Amino acid sequence: MKYACKECRRVMADKDCYYCKKESGTSDWGGLLIIIDPTNSVIAKKTGYTSVGKYALTVRS
Ligand SMILES: [Zn+2]
Repeated sequence: MKYACKECRRVMADKDCYYCKKESGTSDWGGLLIIIDPTNSVIAKKTGYTSVGKYALTVRS
């Protein structure tokens, strides 16, 4: 888990985002947010993330 996507903020192992289908990863990110249960999570509702995954709190583009 080295890169975070600039568009969807998913944290991933390489620069290619499988979700956005492009090379939108950056190593300049901070804070890890893990969404396990989007339908019941308060954090998921606050941040707007609707799917399970690991997300960066801040991503510099
Ligand atoms: Zn993405």
